[in-house]
Amino acid sequence: MSIFTMIDDKHVPLFRVMWVAAVPHFCGSEDCMHEGDYEVRLEQGESVWANREERDCVLVALQQWHDGVEPDEDDGDAATDETAEQ
Ligand SMILES: [Zn+2]
Repeated sequence: MSIFTMIDDKHVPLFRVMWVAAVPHFCGSEDCMHEGDYEVRLEQGESVWANREERDCVLVALQQWHDGVEPDEDDGDAATDETAEQ
């Protein structure tokens, strides 16, 4: 699978995503270009703006990416190495 996700015509590496907005942007500003878009915060304080479809794709892609790198620790006996517990 790809390490990139498409947001606002940009290929964004999933590992750069800090968080994804749960609700659409609203600031009340008349000339706001992003009303109704979902903010996707990247490293370095950058943001990109996703429509609802793209936002959902980002979340799915992040989940799959995470699941992909997670070691398979459900089969076998008790977990002996607790590495990256958050
Ligand atoms: Zn705004």
